[in-house]
Amino acid sequence: MTIQQSSALQSLLSETKNFIGGEYVGSSASKTFENFDPVTGEVFATVHEATEEDVDTAVRAASDAYRGEWGSLTVEARAKLLYRVADRINERFDEFLVAECRDTGKPYSLARHIDIPRGAANFKIFADVIRNVPTETFRMETPDGAGALNYGVRLPKGVIAVISPWNLPLLLMTWKVGPALACGNTVVVKPSEETPSTTTLLGEVMVEVGMPAGVFNVVNGFGTNSTGEFLTRHPEVDAITFTGETITGTTIMQNAAVGIRDVSFELGGKNAGVVFADCDMEQALDGTARSVFANCGQVCLGTERVYVERPIFDEFVSKLKDRAEGLKIGIPTDETTGMGPMVSRQQCEKVLSYYDKARELGAEIITGGGVPDMAEAYTGGFWVQPTIWTGLAEDSPIVKQEIFGPCCHIQPFDLEEEAIRLANDTKYGLATAIWTTNASRAHRVAEKIDVGITWVNCWFLRDLRTSFGGAKQSGIGREGGVHSIDFYTELRNVCLKL
Ligand code: NAD
Repeated sequence: MTIQQSSALQSLLSETKNFIGGEYVGSSASKTFENFDPVTGEVFATVHEATEEDVDTAVRAASDAYRGEWGSLTVEARAKLLYRVADRINERFDEFLVAECRDTGKPYSLARHIDIPRGAANFKIFADVIRNVPTETFRMETPDGAGALNYGVRLPKGVIAVISPWNLPLLLMTWKVGPALACGNTVVVKPSEETPSTTTLLGEVMVEVGMPAGVFNVVNGFGTNSTGEFLTRHPEVDAITFTGETITGTTIMQNAAVGIRDVSFELGGKNAGVVFADCDMEQALDGTARSVFANCGQVCLGTERVYVERPIFDEFVSKLKDRAEGLKIGIPTDETTGMGPMVSRQQCEKVLSYYDKARELGAEIITGGGVPDMAEAYTGGFWVQPTIWTGLAEDSPIVKQEIFGPCCHIQPFDLEEEAIRLANDTKYGLATAIWTTNASRAHRVAEKIDVGITWVNCWFLRDLRTSFGGAKQSGIGREGGVHSIDFYTELRNVCLKL
């Protein structure tokens, strides 16, 4: 498949700058780092690393825009601009597709259906939400009998720092930028150092639709002792929204404590799939295969632990093996590719180290456990096999730790209470998928598994108006629909004596 690349995209894909105050700017210290193609392992771009001074310039640009033109726009005018952003992403759909797949190595077929459309939709949904969100009103009695009227006013918080990960770069970043802007804030975004391209390209879109300069800023770089830390420590940042690892959340929370800044965290997971013997077997297999192998297993909602009721255990394991082995591992542009490479050498090595550990611990390797054979042109890429294990103890690191690769451990259970106990035996609480045709059981089990998101007979089916977020160490707060509005605005009460 051939996609026309604009010269702007070609230059972005070879030299990725920061986007500050409505303009692309290089690193003030001429510091750069390399962006690698996951398919070949070769460098394809140089990225400008934002220094502390650059981050300060970006935060000041955001602060000025907040106090200036952007702050004086009506809700309707803001919503219209956000619709234009979404429309322009759709008009430049193929360019976003190329940029996203170049950074991540994910199949075009996947990004075309999920990442890019959701990237656009995230602006429209929150433009609609902000136009329709109600505020509370309470009429109270007073001793003089006249009463008083209380009403809520929602106002933006100011400058929001957005820190996003590499697994769904455009989708997860716009999931925060959409509501932040809809509510009238301005943003400084730090995308993952692995995947800066679509976030940076979005800067061009902002200029094209007439977004006031400084409303949307991008600073590229790393976390600790780099751009991410400079941004989260910056005193003029009013709130921080972060998606990434739980351990990174801990550090960011410490930085947010200085100045008592609010945080919204979407963190790691070690999610359980629970398959009952009364499930629709084909539905459960298709859903579990997706929840384990989609995006090469690099989905926070993925089910790396699968618990299957004993009577169907052998059949389930054998048929999931067939599905794993039927996945075509290949390059993004091949429309028949079912699974691409891992995002980075580091992530690939991490996943392979778990594959080695599972072998050392005596896991039964049902399939995979290594590196696939690839054509010579791609042997430098970050490839791993889809992998299934059984037979490990519950306290093994394979079952306890988030691997974030295309792999799962499957374990049998006998009783419903046992399945619930096993599913809850983790410090995380992001999501679960329950497979059963018994509706009473589905409701019962859903309420007992300690997670923010439960799917029954489906996985990753999202209505963007619903709440999204994790329990336990998988996050703080909820985003989605009006829940995002809660985080991105300050609710004030006005009490008017009648
Ligand atoms: P990560 O925590 O390593 O990095 C995420 C972002 O934080 C990157 O932009 C990184 O540069 C930045 N960062 C790192 N250290 C920082 C610091 N000290 N200060 C400020 N910023 C810092 O996560 P990752 O490896 O990019 O993403 C994978 C993780 O994200 C997994 O744990 C996954 O479960 C989680 N995730 C969660 C959700 C969710 O919705 N709960 C969604 C996607 C990914």
